[in-house]
Amino acid sequence: MAYLSTDRVEHHFHDVVIIGSGGAGMRCALQLADAGHRVAVITKVLPTRSHTVAAQGGINASLGNVTSDHWLWHMYDTIKGSDYLGDQDAIEYMCRAAPQLVRELEHQGVAFSRLDDGKIYQRAFGGQSRELGEGGQALRTCAAADRTGHAILHAMYQQNLRAGTHFYEEFFALDLITDKNGCQGVMAWDIAKGEYHLFQAKAVVLATGGAGRIFKVTTNAHICTGDGGALTMAAGLPMEDMEFFQFHPTGVADVGPLITEGVRGEGGYLLNSEGQRFMERYAPTAKDLASRDVVSRAIALEIREGRGCGPNKNYALLKLDHLGEELILNRLPNIHELALRFAGVDCTKEPIPVQPTAHYTMGGIPTNRFGEVIYNGAEGERNCAGLYAIGEAACVSVHGANRLGGNSLLEIIVFGRACGNQVMKRLKQHRYHPALDKDCWQKGVERVESWLGELNKPGGDGCGIADIRLRMQTIMQEHFSVYRTNEIMAEGVQRLEALAAELPDARLSDGNRIFNTELIEAMELENLMGLARVTAAGALARVESRGAHARDDFPDRNDAKWMKHTLASINDGQVKLDYKPVRVRPMTVESFPPKKRVY
Ligand SMILES: Cc1cc2nc3c(=O)[nH]c(=O)nc-3n(C[C@H](O)[C@H](O)[C@H](O)COP(=O)(O)OP(=O)(O)OC[C@H]3O[C@@H](n4cnc5c(N)ncnc54)[C@H](O)[C@@H]3O)c2cc1C
Repeated sequence: MAYLSTDRVEHHFHDVVIIGSGGAGMRCALQLADAGHRVAVITKVLPTRSHTVAAQGGINASLGNVTSDHWLWHMYDTIKGSDYLGDQDAIEYMCRAAPQLVRELEHQGVAFSRLDDGKIYQRAFGGQSRELGEGGQALRTCAAADRTGHAILHAMYQQNLRAGTHFYEEFFALDLITDKNGCQGVMAWDIAKGEYHLFQAKAVVLATGGAGRIFKVTTNAHICTGDGGALTMAAGLPMEDMEFFQFHPTGVADVGPLITEGVRGEGGYLLNSEGQRFMERYAPTAKDLASRDVVSRAIALEIREGRGCGPNKNYALLKLDHLGEELILNRLPNIHELALRFAGVDCTKEPIPVQPTAHYTMGGIPTNRFGEVIYNGAEGERNCAGLYAIGEAACVSVHGANRLGGNSLLEIIVFGRACGNQVMKRLKQHRYHPALDKDCWQKGVERVESWLGELNKPGGDGCGIADIRLRMQTIMQEHFSVYRTNEIMAEGVQRLEALAAELPDARLSDGNRIFNTELIEAMELENLMGLARVTAAGALARVESRGAHARDDFPDRNDAKWMKHTLASINDGQVKLDYKPVRVRPMTVESFPPKKRVY
């Protein structure tokens, strides 16, 4: 095949290659570039279009600017929120680092909203308590109005430009270059020019974000296709805890865009068709600010029992007009606009129709708290040399079975930085680029050519990418949603496996090399399909309810059998499941043992 010649592959050398320019990738890049390393960031969209830009409500830190607070309370809330599946050493590390790193963000140019005394504004978010869960609500979420992610991402981008990070924009990562010594780089496709690039590096960091697009109704952008996880699985490594997918309680009904938890933090509340404030029944203390899994299930139950609103009785109402126009336009301007655009509702006057919507990938590429990718080897836990993962793509695991709002922006900053520091240690020991295997770039090239090349001529009889994607998303939505049972999931697994077998027969309708978005969508669909398969298999196998994984047929948590992380991989086309223990020992404080979770 003529295209398989090295002169068509441009070879780049960097100390570190980071795939992803969201908050996680950019915070990591900044740490390394500021230390004088030659850092490349590859991103499939323009850097400031990464999904981090859409984050609304805020970032958690126990600054105590409004109520008293302490990092230990934040740690306790996070462990409780995780339904005791979170790794307590990583959680301690994150919560302790939070105040310092949020203040650092401010110094880096993040324009947080202010209190009257000039300190950073903090609002209430779900699952936040005082006095180790015994006291009232802590106000812990630091916000830049309802555009916190926008403020963080733009500040990070500007800082990286200052620090001299190299950006490769609209480049799509195709394949990790691995050999017996670990990960040596990545093959990428220049979307605009239709050319191959080989990035050789002493460390590769995956910061590719979440995989919300495995579901049909989601708050996630079209680009959230879990590419990093798929690259890891293709390299023979597992994914962790993918069955735990967060459904955010308040997406705009039928379409999905997010209405931040900050609305309830500011005093908004949910109503059913009978005008009842139903969260009082499900969570008598925290009410509308119980954790997300609890509120999502409550809405789903109200709908199931016939108390949903609207002609199809399929949503709840989020009331906030009583907060007053001034507060709404000042603290929640983006929500006002979103409600107008997607629900046709002026929320200063009427409630917003809302429904649970797929929101956050709690699972991901297994890492330790230094960002190193780890797996279960024959001799126990091992790390894959030179390969790192951070942010929503990774599972470190600070969110366990359910993430608390505001903890993800925190995670990307804390572990972006920690990973940067860990990579620096490796760079001290590995000063030169080793010689690569002669054909290491072939797999990446074949991935594109199998879609574009002669063997698979565009316009054949196979069905299209968009069709298979929609069918996959529908299966996931129908069979792996807020409530799950053995019967529903087993059928889902079967349908999904049959659909996955159809994917190789799919055809593109556009055979161009230049800016071929259908080609990108095809490769994203390959990625999504693998992730959907491990999500489904892990969910079917987990015979308990924990956090976001709620089973009607097994409603209780089973700590004796299931307080463990799932590791799922795809070998020879088959999904394989393995497990590993939860890290229940924090770094310096005593462990928080599992208790019944009540809000
Ligand atoms: C609507 C919405 C609101 C949210 N609000 C909050 C909030 O208020 N508080 C909070 O804590 N969390 C919030 N979250 C979650 C949080 O924003 C995300 O988890 C976090 O920003 C993810 O950051 P990231 O850097 O890991 O990934 P992302 O920001 O998703 O970035 C991923 C990057 O990877 C790149 N990439 C992916 N695949 C490839 C590939 N194959 N080749 C090249 N590049 C690739 C993309 O181009 C992109 O640059 C929200 C999420 C959503 C969807």
